[in-house]
Amino acid sequence: MTVQPIRLFGDPVLRTPADPVVDFDAELRRLVADLTDTMREQNGAGLAAPQLGVSLRVFAFDVDDVLGHLVNPVLEFPDEEEQDGPEGCLSIPGLYFDTKRRQNVIAKGFSAFGDPVQIVGTGLMSRCVQHETDHLDGVLFLDRLDAAGRKEAMKAIRQADWYDAAAPPTVKLSPHISDPFGLGR
Ligand SMILES: [Zn+2]
Repeated sequence: MTVQPIRLFGDPVLRTPADPVVDFDAELRRLVADLTDTMREQNGAGLAAPQLGVSLRVFAFDVDDVLGHLVNPVLEFPDEEEQDGPEGCLSIPGLYFDTKRRQNVIAKGFSAFGDPVQIVGTGLMSRCVQHETDHLDGVLFLDRLDAAGRKEAMKAIRQADWYDAAAPPTVKLSPHISDPFGLGR
């Protein structure tokens, strides 16, 4: 079983820009398997590595019966066409808000074996690729809403049963490290 817990809104890893993948090794392929299994168990359209607490530029997708993954993605937009429709996120469970995205995208990157991959996406696939690549930059779909939409979304998040404002995620430091920040004091 390689289904992993998904980090929820409020976890700082979701706001941290992820590092490019350098080693296309067995560990990367295990990460892709974890992303794929966790995404499918949650019936998600996509899942990015930071959502599993791993700050690397990798995501998995499952859109229109096309299952795959992309490493170190770079997006290009072939035209100016936009789409507007409901979007959600496994890190913000149960909440959907209309979000503007580009209708068409060309995503270039690599497979977990280091082979070059290109995804030409339209509609939902394009939306998914943009959403997941945003995750790798520490960006959430809430950031793409206008001010009124973002206010409405934040209100809904604060009222969500999974959101616990009294226990915001904290970075736990080992009590055995007397100088955790290396400040020499
Ligand atoms: Zn998401």
